[in-house]
Amino acid sequence: MTLRQAEELLQKYYGHSSFRPGQRQIIESILAGYNTLGIMPTGGGKSICYQIPALMFPGITIVISPLISLMKDQVDGLRQLGIPATYINSSLTLTEMDERIREMTAGKYKLLYIAPERLESGRFRAIFETLPVYLVTIDEAHCISQWGHDFRPSYRSMAQMIRQLPRKPIIAALTATATPEVREDIASLLSIEPAHIYATRLQRDNLSFSVRHEEDRREFIRAYLEAHPRQTGIIYCSTRKEVDQLHQDLSGQGFATAAYHAGMSDEERERAQEKFSYDQLQAIVATNAFGMGIDKSNVRFVIHYNLPKNLESYYQEAGRAGRDGEESECILLYSPQDVHTQKFLIEQSELSPERKQHEFGKLQEMHNYCYTSQCLQATIVKYFGDPGSEPCGKCSNCRKLTEEEEIDLTTEAQKIFSCIKRMKERFGLSTVSKVLKGSKSKRILEWQLDGLSTYGIMKEYTEKQIHQLCLELVAEGYLHIRLNNHSLPVAKLTPKAIEVLKGERKVTGLRKIYKDGPKQSGQAGGLFEELRAVRLKLSQREQIPPYMIFPDSTLKE
Ligand code: ADP
Ligand code: MG
Ligand code: ZN
Repeated sequence: MTLRQAEELLQKYYGHSSFRPGQRQIIESILAGYNTLGIMPTGGGKSICYQIPALMFPGITIVISPLISLMKDQVDGLRQLGIPATYINSSLTLTEMDERIREMTAGKYKLLYIAPERLESGRFRAIFETLPVYLVTIDEAHCISQWGHDFRPSYRSMAQMIRQLPRKPIIAALTATATPEVREDIASLLSIEPAHIYATRLQRDNLSFSVRHEEDRREFIRAYLEAHPRQTGIIYCSTRKEVDQLHQDLSGQGFATAAYHAGMSDEERERAQEKFSYDQLQAIVATNAFGMGIDKSNVRFVIHYNLPKNLESYYQEAGRAGRDGEESECILLYSPQDVHTQKFLIEQSELSPERKQHEFGKLQEMHNYCYTSQCLQATIVKYFGDPGSEPCGKCSNCRKLTEEEEIDLTTEAQKIFSCIKRMKERFGLSTVSKVLKGSKSKRILEWQLDGLSTYGIMKEYTEKQIHQLCLELVAEGYLHIRLNNHSLPVAKLTPKAIEVLKGERKVTGLRKIYKDGPKQSGQAGGLFEELRAVRLKLSQREQIPPYMIFPDSTLKE
């Protein structure tokens, strides 16, 4: 069993060309037969880490997964990829269960999904012991630890049970959020050596965090939704009552929202989730019952209307934004009242005094997050035990630090103009943006546009940012849009742009447009902020070369 084979399977079943950071090490460790703990942010690609070894090992891989409601979706997804998988849970009749167990014994499946509670049944345990189980995967492994934010006693007893199996399977534990103490807890319960704990960088570069101390939180949300009409997101509230009220309020004002909480019927919840999945909602207003396993990749914002009880919950919920890698926002609306509510909930809980103390400590950290002047993303990542993270450059604290800074976009403008020039001014802005981004789109690659010398020279930016910047350059008179003889819009350089290319003019006009942008209500972020963030990061890494990226000869009119 080699990594080469694993890569072939990745290509064959999933159509991905390479492993992501972390996936490779985790898979190698599992294939080598070590009990392994993988910590990867939501959306990082944990499923593949156990599914590929499952395909390579003989026998069956058992996957312990916390939510019955998700199993069917996960299994259906695998079947669509051509991977034989099934699940056994309380939604099946006894006859159906027997049927599946029979099929399993006959070797029909590679993966079996079950809830941890299954292993509490003596009958099931007996069957389990007769199956050729090579690998046991524990998804959402933080549920094992009572120091985690989602402790489940059945997870803990399941862990003990697995260790007592006569034939010892390899154990793969996976989670998105684990503080150092939760890691230690998982590792000691499952006999995982420190050398086989893999944590990928938790930082999510495409998320902009902000904390807002708003007087009127509803008004903020209203203005935000109004300013982002074509985006979809999640608004988390801490109680069902607040969910219902906020949803009514917003839908009453004409926003496409739906409510989601555990007090609703299964059908109502399904309907809400479906609408959300199909982009029919601008926002789903939900309690924390919504989210685990939501596979929507283009969630553009996650707003917390209330303070979560700790940073684990917060990062997990906020992390549902931007799983497609595009720029997304995570906004926390702070209100002192929420701190009291959370405190009260801990006090009233059935927890032991020791654990209450622990929960208070976590709430304190959550509170500190709302008042820190350090980078918000770095603060979270540090909380999870990753010390060496740099300021993200785009959270509300990083933005404050640079608020007075000027932004010079001359280099970016030169890159854009060079590209247009090299492409003989025959293409539209979206094609230009794709070339600059280095798009893998077949059309772009096929054309071999421009000998590709401007291909990918702005890859640090998203295609959308580049396009947006192009539009601003049009607005500022650097570019003209003309229709060609096929009536398609193409971009042309104006004399002003040529001056920029020759290094005779700086592009600073943009500052005028954006100077007050970020301060307008509801307009957290914006292009100006995004570009500045990318630049800030670049300038920390390397100096951008000055003028004249391309030789003079290309400038001859
Ligand atoms: P997690 O369980 O860590 O939240 P998933 O396993 O659901 O994440 O994966 C999230 C997304 O990332 C999926 O859409 C998956 O197809 C994609 N993905 C995973 N690994 C890769 C890879 N190596 N290359 C490209 N996409 C990947
Ligand atoms: Mg997952
Ligand atoms: Zn920051």
